Amino acid sequence: MSRFRILTLFSLGVFGLLIAYLYNLRTAMSSIVRTDDVAKLGAIVVGSGLAGLSAASQLISHNIPVRLLERAAKPGGNSIKASSGINGAPTKYQPVVDDAFYADTIKSAGKAMAALTAHREGLISNLTNSSSGAISWLVDNKGIDLSKVAQLGGHTFPRTHRGAGQTPPGFSIISTLLKSLKESPLFHLQTSCTVTKVLQTDQRVTGVEYACEDGEKQELHGPVIFAAGGFGGDAEGLLAQYRPDLAGYPSTNDPRPGTQPLLTALGAQLVDMDLVQVHPSGFVDPANSASPLKFLAAEVLRGEGGLLLINGKRFINELETRENVTNAIVATAPTSELPKQWTVQLVLDEGAYGAAKSHVDFYIFKGLMKKATIADLGEGALESIQQYASAAAGTQADTFHRTSFAHWALKDPAPDSVIYTGIVTPVVHFTMGGVLISNKAEVLKEDGEKIEGLWGAGEVTGGVHGGNRLGGSSLLECVVFGRTAGDQCAEYIKGGST
Ligand SMILES: Cc1cc2nc3c(=O)[nH]c(=O)nc-3n(C[C@H](O)[C@H](O)[C@H](O)COP(=O)(O)OP(=O)(O)OC[C@H]3O[C@@H](n4cnc5c(N)ncnc54)[C@H](O)[C@@H]3O)c2cc1C
Repeated sequence: MSRFRILTLFSLGVFGLLIAYLYNLRTAMSSIVRTDDVAKLGAIVVGSGLAGLSAASQLISHNIPVRLLERAAKPGGNSIKASSGINGAPTKYQPVVDDAFYADTIKSAGKAMAALTAHREGLISNLTNSSSGAISWLVDNKGIDLSKVAQLGGHTFPRTHRGAGQTPPGFSIISTLLKSLKESPLFHLQTSCTVTKVLQTDQRVTGVEYACEDGEKQELHGPVIFAAGGFGGDAEGLLAQYRPDLAGYPSTNDPRPGTQPLLTALGAQLVDMDLVQVHPSGFVDPANSASPLKFLAAEVLRGEGGLLLINGKRFINELETRENVTNAIVATAPTSELPKQWTVQLVLDEGAYGAAKSHVDFYIFKGLMKKATIADLGEGALESIQQYASAAAGTQADTFHRTSFAHWALKDPAPDSVIYTGIVTPVVHFTMGGVLISNKAEVLKEDGEKIEGLWGAGEVTGGVHGGNRLGGSSLLECVVFGRTAGDQCAEYIKGGST
């Protein structure tokens, strides 16, 4: 063997030993970090929607440093798009004695309550009982305007809060929380960084693996709050797996993969993955009617007095739950197969328009709604609107048993009466299923035990809404369970459990 070959083999051997040494050193280091330094490193929050920001705010209030990793280039997730508002009762803006929120939520959850009954009742009780405190935290502690209250579908009383000005509730809540977090030296946000794995050692979550724009895998160590949202935008992945029948439906959610598999890899229990909310009203944009991504026609438009027509006829109490309104629409023939769409007219009079002015003006600006007359709606509409107006005026009972007409004011509809209208269709909107959590926001395993060092909040979790989420209850769940996750994680770190 030549001297050159011997030298080459020797160098390769040394290089191999060096690699093995570095690998062992890294493993040893990560275990040292896990046991000794986590408290100094603080907590990791995955996802910058309302659940993640609520958790981060709470951690910071306990003086715990937060590293927040966000997949998208801009923070805010689906939360920033929320347009109807957040539920709470009782609150200073909701004067009605409202003891029905819990019962409304149970009723809306429907048949799903038959499984894990006591556990779900506990989560719902926590959600509804904490709603008053959640609104007061946002209003009194964070200074967010939520002074307007509307009644959405499935709610016995008005309890969905939004601001009185032009800014939609999702945007004002997210931008305010982010601004206040960014003022803290303890808060560190990294956008365009996707968490690819949750790390675990000795049955305890110790951090995450993630990759940013350069694609290089990195690790971050600390206990983890997982708030990565739902899988409504994962059309080819989890949605296709659990609800193949929804193939072709448009969605209000930007395309992105679901993240529950990162948690089932640790043994997390999944619930209700097949329970997907199809919202009855996504706008069909006349300029791009085949787009699979739709703008939501906020439920508050119906809540403030709007009605729905198919072929000029009303077909349901518009304040029924989203599930029931959607079922009534999809029981009729679709007007397009790809995307799967129906043609439903949403109609507001001047009174309802006045109450939802900021929404409608925005939709008119986007070309999704227009000011028109009843005659423009086509055959049958006048008669249907006359009946609706009589029910709103109290001169006859409503055919569909609607009892709240909010700000509808038109008493004598005529062909030239002014209305505001747009075409809507059912859209994949929200995923009720996800990882099961406890009332302490701990992510639970199949055997019901918690996964040490891991909490979950927001749409990535399941079990809180059962078969149908009430409008306004998702933002609420983000605040309630996000804040709980923050408190619990802070306690875990301070207690030295890390
Ligand atoms: C158009 C629209 C209107 C709505 N209106 C209302 C309303 O009025 N009231 C209401 O209660 N609910 C409403 N909802 C539902 C509600 O907004 C959402 O369900 C809720 O905000 C979810 O919050 P979240 O924090 O769990 O998730 P999101 O707000 O979706 O945030 C999750 C974040 O995690 C990030 N992420 C995902 N995967 C990873 C990863 N692997 N690594 C790092 N980051 C990741 C995402 O990019 C995202 O930013 C609406 C939803 C939509 C789409």
